[in-house]
Amino acid sequence: MENRTNYHSHCSFCDGHAPMEDFVCAAIREGFTAYGISSHAPLPYSTRWTMERRDVPAYLAESRRLKQKYEGKIELYVGLEIDYLDEGWNPSVPFFRALPLDYRIASLHILPDGAGNPVEIDCGMKTFSERMRDCFANDLEAVARAYYATQRRMLRLGGFDVLGHCDKLDSRVEYCRPGITGEPWYRRLREDFLDEVAADGSVMLEVNTKKYEEDAHFFPASAWFPELKRRGIPVVVNSDAHYPERINASRREALEQLYAAGYRSVRELHGGRWQDVPIGL
Ligand SMILES: [Zn+2]
Ligand SMILES: [Zn+2]
Repeated sequence: MENRTNYHSHCSFCDGHAPMEDFVCAAIREGFTAYGISSHAPLPYSTRWTMERRDVPAYLAESRRLKQKYEGKIELYVGLEIDYLDEGWNPSVPFFRALPLDYRIASLHILPDGAGNPVEIDCGMKTFSERMRDCFANDLEAVARAYYATQRRMLRLGGFDVLGHCDKLDSRVEYCRPGITGEPWYRRLREDFLDEVAADGSVMLEVNTKKYEEDAHFFPASAWFPELKRRGIPVVVNSDAHYPERINASRREALEQLYAAGYRSVRELHGGRWQDVPIGL
């Protein structure tokens, strides 16, 4: 199978479960042509899932060492998965722009509660529903509106190449209130968001395969694929791997479903340039 690439991968610099080199070796073993590491970027405070700011130089140094060591065996790239926390901390700020990265993924894992305190919303279903109750007074509509508005704000601020798992909230609010994402106002939220991504034209959308083995669900959901295609939005298939053995999880299924939706190519980073590569099933 072609299209053996992945640019969304964690490692022990953040919440990945193995050293960076183990992911690289797994990629070589599985015949990947290109691989990118994208640990969770530091936040201005410590968490159990993000890199510490003081570790960024070591992260970059390790990626340089591996690029050299495995030159000729695989194309290696280094990026970060960067959050929008607020206007002062997001992919567009000088700190991230100045880092010598090959690419940047912007993903939203946090929203502020009514008092402005950051709340992690990228969590398990039960935890999510508890946080909705405790931090957002169960106002799912306000949270959904804030989620898509924040992604649109990220887009306008810029500083990244790929928008990561852009509908991850949907399955969580759906868990809290079945049917909510099919309501007209929610569909409009999604459509307006996609219209803005298409009009902006500067970023690729990720098709994230991390959960597909568990629940046959991509981020964004495959129901979106025809909508993405109709708008001419370029896509990158990523596994968001936290374990080396999962780097290739559900890639074929994603490519097949993109093909069925009309896509004939996906974006891949080769020779330092993002390019359209035919889907080779
Ligand atoms: Zn993420
Ligand atoms: Zn990730």
